[in-house]
Amino acid sequence: MTDEPSVTIIGLGSMGQALANACLAAGHRTTVWNRTPAKADALVARGATRAATVSDALWASDLVILCVLDYDAVDELLAPNADMLKGRVLVNLTNGRPEQARRTGAWVTAQGAEYLDGGIMAIPSMIGKPEGFILYSGSSAAFDRCRAALEVLAVPTFVGEDAGLAALNDLALLSGMYGIFAGARHATALIGPERAAEFTTSLLIPWLQAMANVLAPSSAEREAGDIPSEESPLDMQATALANIVQGSRSEGVGIDLLTHLLTPMRDIIAAGEGDALSDLVGLIEKEIRS
Ligand code: NDP
Repeated sequence: MTDEPSVTIIGLGSMGQALANACLAAGHRTTVWNRTPAKADALVARGATRAATVSDALWASDLVILCVLDYDAVDELLAPNADMLKGRVLVNLTNGRPEQARRTGAWVTAQGAEYLDGGIMAIPSMIGKPEGFILYSGSSAAFDRCRAALEVLAVPTFVGEDAGLAALNDLALLSGMYGIFAGARHATALIGPERAAEFTTSLLIPWLQAMANVLAPSSAEREAGDIPSEESPLDMQATALANIVQGSRSEGVGIDLLTHLLTPMRDIIAAGEGDALSDLVGLIEKEIRS
């Protein structure tokens, strides 16, 4: 036995393998289990211990990290092994919804274990490096105790005692990311395949990075609980969006994404400005319908 922290990783898909590799690189005594045992081979060659069963894997360490495809798999793995959970800290890094995290957290806690739910804001190649972070929610006492061990995976960020909060923040951040991806895809389609790579590197990425800063509210707005003020008025933005729709149409680029953006803008203008901007609402209606 050594004084090194001991950790179990259950689930060795591409993310679980990255997590286990980070634990090994940090010198942690690392036990691994995967439904398809061969996925543990390379880790065992690097020093991990292969558990023969889920029960053995839970027994091996006080800190157990679960990272499988979905909550059906989580339930399948944990339910028959409830009696092995007592005294453990179970960290569930499986992607899911807030209510699934809360349900699993309540069940795990009822077995005498402490529960942390996690949202991994990284891809496997970012694990063990400073650029990724992992959101945690649930037992703050367990988080504080395990913090050093969790730091080897990615920067740990605790978001609250409600076990569902990591999943909620994870889904919110992912929806922001997919919005950016969809917008970037439309932008490169408009530019065309020949210039897309150069355009992305030299213009699109710097532009998106600069505009991301606009999201940050000023300190006065933060105090008032307001969303950032409109430096760029809504009518100006709606007119520009209508131009982008027309421009895309003439370049033969599909406009589905843009009309989805125009619809809420039309509704906000119609609700907030009344007759003053009715011409603009009409313009947007025309773009959505044509
Ligand atoms: P993979 O598809 O690579 O691996 C899925 C893992 O789940 C495998 O270990 C698989 O076992 C296991 N599994 C699936 N069903 C069952 C089951 N019924 N019983 C036991 N084990 C099961 O996925 P990832 O490793 O990439 O993702 C794992 C989690 O991490 C997901 O929730 C994902 O959303 C999250 N995540 C992944 C990221 C990524 O970029 N990859 C980024 C952020 C989060 P087997 O090998 O036997 O099939």
